[in-house]
Amino acid sequence: MSEELASLYDIQQADTEIARHEEALSDLDAGAGLAAEIETLEGELGDVRKQLEEAENENLDRELEAKTLEEKRKRFQDQLYGGSVRNPRQLTDLHQEVEMLGREIGKLEDRMLELMELLESLRAGISSREQRLAEAETQLEAVRAEYERKGGRLRERIVELKAERRDHAARVGPRLLKRYEQIRGRAGNLGLVKVTGRNCLGCMIDLPQETVKALRAGRSGLTCDNCGRLLLWGEGGEAEQ
Ligand SMILES: [Zn+2]
Repeated sequence: MSEELASLYDIQQADTEIARHEEALSDLDAGAGLAAEIETLEGELGDVRKQLEEAENENLDRELEAKTLEEKRKRFQDQLYGGSVRNPRQLTDLHQEVEMLGREIGKLEDRMLELMELLESLRAGISSREQRLAEAETQLEAVRAEYERKGGRLRERIVELKAERRDHAARVGPRLLKRYEQIRGRAGNLGLVKVTGRNCLGCMIDLPQETVKALRAGRSGLTCDNCGRLLLWGEGGEAEQ
């Protein structure tokens, strides 16, 4: 068997291994999903914290307003029931003021009740997001460490395989190598197939008897009429490995 074809076969094996390792590398989880989730959570946390701050500020304002109105009402009530004011008109005015302040205070109290519920739900939202964020960060760290570990190993192996391929390629003429690469590029996985029986193992079609004979006799550069792949007599190849 042609030494050149045997080396070409080694190149093909290296190519197959390189492709397998590259695929495994691209299939590795680099943590993009978790990173996206973390980014979303951080964005949401920023929004919810801002809402919380606004609600807290509004609550303080409302408390202060209510306190001010409460004091005012107390003053009017003291005047109303203290006996110092006797003029009926003034008493009616005071009475109306006290009623109006009562309604305003009631509205403020309703709003403060709403705010209390809002604050509670915002705080719960922050707490659940913070919890998930911490989990996701831990998970991402683990996923990234795994990615580095597995990816590093795969990349190292790819470098080795490429060096092996270069060694084999040095033993193959540039024209044959180019032909192999073209066929491989066109046919997908295989550019060169070993023939061990009657058929081409690339396309499974029976080869003409003359082709098999010529292969057996050690002729190189033969291709399958059907799929165009380069052919290599397999027995010698198997024995050499
Ligand atoms: Zn074929």
